[in-house]
Amino acid sequence: MSIVNLGNPQVEVREHRLGSITGFEGSASGLVGCSRGGSLCERNRTFSQCLGCSTSNAACTVILIQDAAVISHGPVGCSGCLHEYAFTYRVNGVHRGLQQPTQRRIFSTNLDEEDTVFGGNRKLAEAIRQVHGRTGAKAIFIITTCASGIIGDDVEGVANEAEAELGVPVVAIFCEGFRSKIWTSGFDAGYHGIARKLIPPAVRRQPDLVNIINFWGADSFTGLLARIGLRPNYITPYATVAGIAQSAEAAATLQVCATLGSYLGAALEQVHGVPEIKVPPPYGSLATDRWWRELGRITGRQAQVETLLREEREAWLPRIAELRSRLEGRRAFVTAGAAHGHALVAILRELGMDVAGAAVFHHDPVYDNGAEASDSLQAVVRDYGDIPGYSVCNKQEFELVNVLRRQRPDILLARHGGMTLWGARLGIPSLLVGDEHFGMGYQGLVNYAERILETMENDEFVKNLARHAVNPYTDWWLRQDPHHFLEGKPRVVHP
Ligand code: SF4
Repeated sequence: MSIVNLGNPQVEVREHRLGSITGFEGSASGLVGCSRGGSLCERNRTFSQCLGCSTSNAACTVILIQDAAVISHGPVGCSGCLHEYAFTYRVNGVHRGLQQPTQRRIFSTNLDEEDTVFGGNRKLAEAIRQVHGRTGAKAIFIITTCASGIIGDDVEGVANEAEAELGVPVVAIFCEGFRSKIWTSGFDAGYHGIARKLIPPAVRRQPDLVNIINFWGADSFTGLLARIGLRPNYITPYATVAGIAQSAEAAATLQVCATLGSYLGAALEQVHGVPEIKVPPPYGSLATDRWWRELGRITGRQAQVETLLREEREAWLPRIAELRSRLEGRRAFVTAGAAHGHALVAILRELGMDVAGAAVFHHDPVYDNGAEASDSLQAVVRDYGDIPGYSVCNKQEFELVNVLRRQRPDILLARHGGMTLWGARLGIPSLLVGDEHFGMGYQGLVNYAERILETMENDEFVKNLARHAVNPYTDWWLRQDPHHFLEGKPRVVHP
């Protein structure tokens, strides 16, 4: 178990803190066995395509805060991926009840060659002043980059001086891309900064308030929680600095994806005593029942939870049975981040589908809470059985293409847009659902089942695309074992 230390400006990356990996090939049960038995080892790739960068994930935790501003301290190119959050903010804001979304405030110090020689501290200090003057932001976040890390800028010192001068939190987030192969380390870096400077100790308790650490999914929680007398405090997309500041007063913390929120959940429990719901989030009926019951236990609402579950079953089970009969035996492949990938597997199995395999972006053998109950892959294997073709693959598209060509599933489920492209090019109906709340609970099973059927039944576009798409990979590669470049693997060439 990692002990959250908010006294340190930086949080260690997942490889070192949790023993997380990005290379594995085998079965889900094998991976669970390695994780639980303490024998999990990274299998490096001798060849790798591009990886994601932690700065983007750190940005994801702070850019969507309504009244904050973000400065990327580095060359301007490092902020090139941040615009997508501005787009997300606009598009999804309406689903979170935001009638008039504020403009995103994203800046770069634009470090150049001279700065890398003489240092960028002064440039950063001036940027913070300008951003404060121009935006009036209630908090300013500084996202570090490889360049500022390598030249050794004192980002923490500059942030602290600016905070004293300007009177608003100025938060250094250490998320240089070179620090980790696991880009979700950026989530932890962002939440570490938020926990250090935006969440003060509770002055009172709000027993009906529940923290929800999520991405940008629609507001599915307000109505559901109201049925048991609770209300959500969403962290951090669409939150305000004041809303985040009350997190330590909440009765519990939920998270829709442990890959995203496990660090902040642990920080809130360890530092502020806010209990974290440690069982995996409510995807699939079994996890749904466990999750709601745990929330009921922690908040003293067991009876209301049982009523809610009964009503949900009555409302949705007949339709689920009907849809399951149409999906039974159809084959799906999943590619997604770790915890949400496990959630998608649970949904598919619950709908009677066969999971032909999964390529999940990384694997955490444990989270910062140290609880075995949080092991969502173990829970899925126990609930629904093994997944034979399970790999850990940090978006190595060459591996995915090779696997998909062999598996030819009826549908590809992906969590990231760039991945569905590969299924579509191969003529495989491919589904991307951006709203992470879409599959939750009993209703979520219906949502997914209907969307999966719709996607498989409307396959004309992908068939056409496959007829015309140019395959960038050579015959040599496509004859190799898809995990050819994973170290320690016997190299099997298929005829
Ligand atoms: S890996 Fe480094 S250089 Fe590349 S975008 Fe990320 S911070 Fe910038």
